[in-house]
Amino acid sequence: MNAPVHDLSTRIVHHEYTPPAGFLAPQPGVFKASTVIFPNVAAMRAREWKDKSSYTYGLHGTPTTYQLEERLCTLEGGQQCLLVPSGLAAIATVALALLRAGDEVLIPDNAYGPNKALAEVELKHYGIRHVLYDAMDPADLAAKITPATRLVWLEAPGSVTLEFPNLREMARICRERGVTSALDNTWGAGLAFAPFDLEGDGSSSLAVDISAHALTKYPSGGGDVLMGSIITRDEPLHLKIKLTHMRLGLGVGANDVEAVLRALPSVGLRYRAHDIAARELARWMGAQEAVVQVLHPALAGSPGHEHWKALCGSANQGDGAAAGLFSVVIDPRYTQAQVDRFCDSLRLFKLGYSWGGPMSLVVPYDLPSMRKCATPQLRPGTLVRFSIGLESVEDLRRDLAQALALAFAA
Ligand SMILES: *Cc1c(COP(=O)(O)O)cnc(C)c1O
Repeated sequence: MNAPVHDLSTRIVHHEYTPPAGFLAPQPGVFKASTVIFPNVAAMRAREWKDKSSYTYGLHGTPTTYQLEERLCTLEGGQQCLLVPSGLAAIATVALALLRAGDEVLIPDNAYGPNKALAEVELKHYGIRHVLYDAMDPADLAAKITPATRLVWLEAPGSVTLEFPNLREMARICRERGVTSALDNTWGAGLAFAPFDLEGDGSSSLAVDISAHALTKYPSGGGDVLMGSIITRDEPLHLKIKLTHMRLGLGVGANDVEAVLRALPSVGLRYRAHDIAARELARWMGAQEAVVQVLHPALAGSPGHEHWKALCGSANQGDGAAAGLFSVVIDPRYTQAQVDRFCDSLRLFKLGYSWGGPMSLVVPYDLPSMRKCATPQLRPGTLVRFSIGLESVEDLRRDLAQALALAFAA
């Protein structure tokens, strides 16, 4: 500081002290910035926001966001990552980056509902057509790809109904037909299978092009952060999405990035714990009189179980890997009011959306209003989805038992 500075108010802004470099701690430092300061005009003119070689503006990245992006690339086996304010923003950013008027996007009928709503309303306004396909029938996907198809969404398993598709076959079809594939990888989280190495042989010979991930779920793990990521393994594709991301002005808060950086080291342990507990409770629910079907891809008999086994079955010494989610179909002889009473009677399971946090959650769904394709894989009845948290399995089982007894007593 060469200019003479005397006033206290100036000195506490332009302070002469710089802490020594080289500080190391288990958690990375958190940098907060809208403005990023350049050392001189030449550096400002030479600014480069398209890669991680420097900094230009808070919206385009800080050491904190770069670090989370790189760790997420490692988790999912990708090479480039963009952070966005929610999982849904990841889906929307991919769509806005890749689709133009006259294009078509294919979406599985059992996709995350807001992905379909985005296409039905917003994309339609831009002259983009969407077509729903049956995720359990790769031939249906193949038949619906046209010369106008620019993007195919994949999801494994389906949202709410958790049917596990033949993801390898669908990725192969997209690759053969030259259509960009984007996977909603929130369930797998980079832990149940490798989206950029679907053959599992380290070769990346079969991969999706884009993985969109609601970090809101397992990477956050706290039920207290909303964030999403868009991961790719192709620089031109990444740049295309990054340009749209930049023009839309999508940024994430440093405090939220810090929360995810802090939770990320335990994501594998938490995922495994949620998985073990969910499978135990799913099996137990399957034996209850009111339940006619349990939907959990790791359970034999669940729709697409064989595809889950092929893709996720070798993890955990052959036990496989799955998220801590399952749904049950309640016998149609019980009324909606009784199913509602069951959900309302639960004490530890709370009524609420999202999943991946410490608290177990339950949501009743009206499935017929959510699906256009026929669902022969599902038994008729009322669907209830459970997200298993980190409470004691025995306490959760007791909670389910008391609510079942109250709602469905003969
Ligand atoms: C929760 C979720 C999303 C959206 O994530 P938000 O951060 O809540 O917007 C997208 N896809 C799937 C499969 C999800 O479960």
